[in-house]
Amino acid sequence: MSSHDEMDAFEGAAAASLSSRAMAARPMPYLDDLNPAQRAAVEALDGPVLMLAGAGTGKTKALTARIVHLLASGKARPNEILAVTFTNKAAREMKNRVGRMLGEAVEGMPWLGTFHAICVKLLRRHAELVGLKSNFTILDTDDQLRLLKQLIAANNIDEKRWPARQLSGIIDNWKNRAWTPEKVPAAEASAFNNRGTELYDQYQTRLRELNATDFGDLLLHMVTIFQTHEDVLAQYQRWFRYILVDEYQDTNVAQYLWLRLLAGAHHNICCVGDDDQSIYGWRGAEVGNILRFEKDFPGAKVVRLEQNYRSTPHILAAASGVIRGNKGRLGKELWTEAEEGEKVRLIGHWDGEEEARWIGEEVEAMQKGTRGLRPLSLDDMAILVRASHQMRAFEDRFLTIGLPYRVIGGPRFYERLEIRDAMAYFRLVVSPDDDLAFERIVNTPKRGLGDKAQQTIQRVARDNGVSLVDGARLCVDEGHIGGKGAGQLRALVEGLDRWNAFTRGPLRRINVGDELLDDGAAETFEYGPPEMSHVELAEIILDESGYTAMWQNDKTPEAPGRLENLKELVKALESFENLQGFLEHVALIMDNEQGEDGEKVSIMTLHAAKGLEFPAVFLPGWEDGLFPSQRSMDEAGLKGLEEERRLAYVGITRAEEICTITFAGNRRVYGQWQSALPSRFIDELPEEHVDVLTPPGLYGGGYGAAGMQSQIHEKAARADVYNSPGWKRMQSRQQARPMAQPQEVRNQVIDSTAISAYTVGDRVFHQKFGYGAITGIEGDKLDIAFEKAGQKKVVAKFVMGADDVPF
Ligand code: ATP
Ligand code: MG
Repeated sequence: MSSHDEMDAFEGAAAASLSSRAMAARPMPYLDDLNPAQRAAVEALDGPVLMLAGAGTGKTKALTARIVHLLASGKARPNEILAVTFTNKAAREMKNRVGRMLGEAVEGMPWLGTFHAICVKLLRRHAELVGLKSNFTILDTDDQLRLLKQLIAANNIDEKRWPARQLSGIIDNWKNRAWTPEKVPAAEASAFNNRGTELYDQYQTRLRELNATDFGDLLLHMVTIFQTHEDVLAQYQRWFRYILVDEYQDTNVAQYLWLRLLAGAHHNICCVGDDDQSIYGWRGAEVGNILRFEKDFPGAKVVRLEQNYRSTPHILAAASGVIRGNKGRLGKELWTEAEEGEKVRLIGHWDGEEEARWIGEEVEAMQKGTRGLRPLSLDDMAILVRASHQMRAFEDRFLTIGLPYRVIGGPRFYERLEIRDAMAYFRLVVSPDDDLAFERIVNTPKRGLGDKAQQTIQRVARDNGVSLVDGARLCVDEGHIGGKGAGQLRALVEGLDRWNAFTRGPLRRINVGDELLDDGAAETFEYGPPEMSHVELAEIILDESGYTAMWQNDKTPEAPGRLENLKELVKALESFENLQGFLEHVALIMDNEQGEDGEKVSIMTLHAAKGLEFPAVFLPGWEDGLFPSQRSMDEAGLKGLEEERRLAYVGITRAEEICTITFAGNRRVYGQWQSALPSRFIDELPEEHVDVLTPPGLYGGGYGAAGMQSQIHEKAARADVYNSPGWKRMQSRQQARPMAQPQEVRNQVIDSTAISAYTVGDRVFHQKFGYGAITGIEGDKLDIAFEKAGQKKVVAKFVMGADDVPF
């Protein structure tokens, strides 16, 4: 198709359903809903406009009204408006709202969507300009990695030392900055053992040969095309007569350049955002983009909105109190006419399970209408977590009590990729005939067992009428599979046998005395109880199979989250007697599918909650290390902490009427109780806007706090936490009702403190592996060189000092 034909096609698609003259004559009720500042931003249709304002001030609403106004006043046809939203869901909502405001369905609006969605469409039209065909495929992460691995191998680089995932992270990062291989600056030359740029170049060449792109390319190619083909750029500058961008604070450099190029001629660009809500720095977003707007577009009309229409004064004040801790912000004050309402509620719990139980009950109570508040629908409530692994406790709890929920922006916990993989291993250990589980994990992590090897295993199993595991065993014994895969398959089969043996104890004799049994046998045996706890076994399976290592070597941003989910999975096992019991539980709750209809409480990460609002919001897990996240502070220092604080601001400002912040004094990690301090953000909440709740009598009338005090005493004393206002507040409220901790809990705590006594070099004993010496300590896990079993990593709880062995 020639570029001219394309223009026609473009124009053809443009047939506007709205007669502009008819529209122009209409009354404009959507303007009446706006305050003067919003109205000014909406009515200034030509030239650059920046709406820089705090949460809930109606930025998205004004942006939507602006689209309506462009259409209704006849300034633009639906296809002449380029409107960028952060998610596809937001795009759909915006389109519906435009329709409602306009009083008729909007036909067209083909250019309302996310950066990616819009760029795919554009790139299909101009693929040949970057050496692609218009039917190019978009690779997913797996394909991308496979390709990078091939390149790494072809370049004789040791992939063990220089993993493909690391390279993919580097390349994504460069693409976010709109650097093609030629543009990667010299300062980056040392990346990936000095080979990064070269491999990036090869990767791009290979993608072109395959007629493929990755996600980052969608934008990068369009930026390149605009930069190198003036005619194409000019064409779109004419066509996209008005540009609107929501959540501008989270754009990365490539997105920013793309917008600047498109708006370069007419400057009809309206961006809205909030520097205090920039939360995607870790993915290359540059808050500087929004701060630079006036420089990029001289004469820009800057509109500041200060009235918040979403939240009560207490909620707003709490959010402002927290965000005030950040330096280098523009600083905005928000006000509201809303009634005073409830203070932000703060409550501490003994542990994460109790936190989930309490929130479950609160949700049910709010449904009925508590303390004189109006009854809320489940759709009105949301639980916003910092890390996706926190969702598990809520999902389990809600499934148990039959509370309908939906997880937004990701699969439910037990549907996650890494959880399904891990569960497949557990299933196979418990029942080696589970062929589906075998198929899932045989080559995960990669064991050099591709399609061909797998087909051989299938065939041998079928021919012999045995399970795939036994088929695999035959393949190994009879040499049906060659190459590297053979050794790896043997290791897998042997591993499965070994792990399976750990699910039971040693055989023991059960017939009484010397009597002969009915069948004439002199003795009969049964398996005793397993000697290794199923929790430890689960860890061993994940470690020895190489599954944990697969994610540890993974350098993509998702990998740490996946590892945390795996930890959370192991934690979930603790409430069950054995692996089997756990697998049954999951099978049952997953079967308990909830229909699409009906009200549901939403569970999502704080990142996914951007732009949304709910009458009641729960913010669990406000503990230092979890939130603010230790990782983000370790990786980005003060910058990381400030991004975490903005996340706290985003979280609180999602709430309209009731905002409840909770924290737990203890979280179980790998069978160990780990104590946590309340988040430093709790100390930043202005006292007069916070109501500290004590857990109701049902849960022990305050033992949560009492327990926390004893648990964290030592740590807290060091950190001088007891002098922090947040802690004093908790104490003064809760000391009124001290109560003993339940014995069970106390024991567990004592248990965990007794363990940390090991140091490297100590000689220890493990029931299964025998004697060994500690070579390393990593949290609650010990690296031990066992005299017989070799080097292993085991959980401290399962070993004892060699001197303490009673035999
Ligand atoms: P965020 O920063 O969280 O994205 P925002 O600035 O985009 O927030 P909106 O979501 O547009 O804010 O608006 C917040 C709430 O206030 C919405 O429920 C919206 O309908 C309402 N609202 C906005 N402007 C007005 C107004 N002028 N009169 C009445 N309600 C309004
Ligand atoms: Mg918004």
